Amino acid sequence: MNQLAQIPLSSLTVTFLALTAIIALRYAMISGLFYWLLWGRAPEKVRAIKLMKGTPGPGAVRREIEWSLLSSFIYAAPAAVVIELWKLGVTAVYTDIDAYPLWWIPVSVFVYLFLQDTYFYWTHRAMHHPALFRTMHRVHHESRPPTPWAAFSFHPYESIVGAVFPPLLALFIPIHVGAVLFILTLMTMAAVFNHCGWEIFPKWWLRGPPGRHLITAAHHDLHHKNPRTNYGLYFRFWDKLMGTDVMESEYDFLKPRPAEPGRIS
Ligand SMILES: [Zn+2]
Ligand SMILES: [Zn+2]
Repeated sequence: MNQLAQIPLSSLTVTFLALTAIIALRYAMISGLFYWLLWGRAPEKVRAIKLMKGTPGPGAVRREIEWSLLSSFIYAAPAAVVIELWKLGVTAVYTDIDAYPLWWIPVSVFVYLFLQDTYFYWTHRAMHHPALFRTMHRVHHESRPPTPWAAFSFHPYESIVGAVFPPLLALFIPIHVGAVLFILTLMTMAAVFNHCGWEIFPKWWLRGPPGRHLITAAHHDLHHKNPRTNYGLYFRFWDKLMGTDVMESEYDFLKPRPAEPGRIS
């Protein structure tokens, strides 16, 4: 792509640093809030279900934050290149809302999330191969139990694998700039929620259709417990299809509530 050579280096540097700051700040705000809500208060005040025994010490949290801040730099790099290419008009990101039918906006969000989920599932499974695990993925599995600060806690090699794919999609699949911002925020929130160490979604959500198809902390926490299961990111689709999904058999809170005595329903 010869347009890469047209990107001014000074502009790329400013975009890269600004983007790093935005990614790191957004991570710090969301992770910090949920860390305080879940781990920073007395357990009896927390209206959520604790998933693993034990409480991570300050050393474990510091480690998660350090790796996550390093990942923020890595996530910003390919995204900054795509922003600069966008300025040159060579990406599939559009600003005119009428450029494509309105229904394409939610569909494009789903397409991006599904493709990212597919990419994540298979690269994640690959990184569990003994030849790759120690170098690329062990850092992430040192979080047992994970805390919200583990959202981006990856070895740089793993962060690079994760960082290149979404910006690459933006070169080819049309997407409105507002949908891009929505997906970026959703990505951070999903990463934080999946690593809360507590299940924060209500039981009706977990037992119903949303919980049967979407990944929450309970699902991903089992992956941190047993790395041979639950590889997905947003959807349980690939795990179910490939026989790696484990959830219902592990948790009592997923079983239907017994009828209350004396009450006819
Ligand atoms: Zn994880
Ligand atoms: Zn893993």
